[in-house]
Amino acid sequence: MQIKLPFSRRREVTPETWTVCPSCESQIFNRQLERNLRVCPTCGHHFRMGIGQRIELMLDDGSFVEHDAGLDSGDPLGFHDQKPYVDRLEAARIKTGLREAAVWGIGSIEGQRVAIGLFDFHFMGGSMGSVVGEKLARCFEAALVERIPAIVVSASGGARMQEGTLSLLQLAKTTAPLVRLDAAGIPFISILTDPTTGGVLASFASLGDVILAEPKALIGFAGARVASGTVGEELPEGFQSAESLLEHGFVDDIVPRSELRPTLSRLLRLLPVAAADDGLQTTGDTRGWGPIGVLSGMAERFGTAVSETIGIEVEQPPADGSGPASRRPREDER
Ligand SMILES: [Zn+2]
Repeated sequence: MQIKLPFSRRREVTPETWTVCPSCESQIFNRQLERNLRVCPTCGHHFRMGIGQRIELMLDDGSFVEHDAGLDSGDPLGFHDQKPYVDRLEAARIKTGLREAAVWGIGSIEGQRVAIGLFDFHFMGGSMGSVVGEKLARCFEAALVERIPAIVVSASGGARMQEGTLSLLQLAKTTAPLVRLDAAGIPFISILTDPTTGGVLASFASLGDVILAEPKALIGFAGARVASGTVGEELPEGFQSAESLLEHGFVDDIVPRSELRPTLSRLLRLLPVAAADDGLQTTGDTRGWGPIGVLSGMAERFGTAVSETIGIEVEQPPADGSGPASRRPREDER
């Protein structure tokens, strides 16, 4: 059933209003900005984009069908800061016309069906609470059941602090189905837009088979000042930009908005879903790697310092290449 999306309406734009580009300071008429996919015509600065506009940009006309639109956040902790959480939710709903910070559904890109999740940063900073996590997990599970690729467009400040530790649970909830997608040979394309930070980056968003980013997008776990303070070092300027992450291999490509749809279409053709009976596991149970596997692999490479830190016993290979593996004595045992 085709759902009339309240958020697919373009925002009303009064022609005489204009926006100043934060990057080059040129004045752009709003109508021109909307026509130009919210990209500054002078310097190419990518302004943030709502979910409805993203759907129009990326998907075939009228192909998107939203799922689980009725999921609503509760307030399990009865959380108050300056305002009660329920009031913040209500204000965000009125401001954006959305029920939550993310939407998921099934649509197509040049005729290729995909399960797609999209964030709107304007809804409480695109923060991931129980409902956002649930929607994304269902998006990935639908991709697994239907054997179609999954795509998520992230724009988020991270976990939703108003749901406390329940928000942190979403990191595991959104990550676990991706292991199953991977084992089943179903591609996941992660698109990082400005900003993608915190628990969203620290979970599913950095697990794409292909990770794309929009130009100049801010991508990082913690803020630059916190990151710099934690490692006790001056960090290079722009180290959390999409460009820096491309240079260091975290991001696979930076795709300007006008190129996003053709790029996705090409990627989807290049990354076909594996046939269901080609022997790939549909569950992650027998995989050679996983979060623990990665950690113990690191411990093997870096030795006892790491294995002690993460509490995993690792047998060291024999130094002379013969005899049974023996643990290297720790400093205090020598
Ligand atoms: Zn500009």
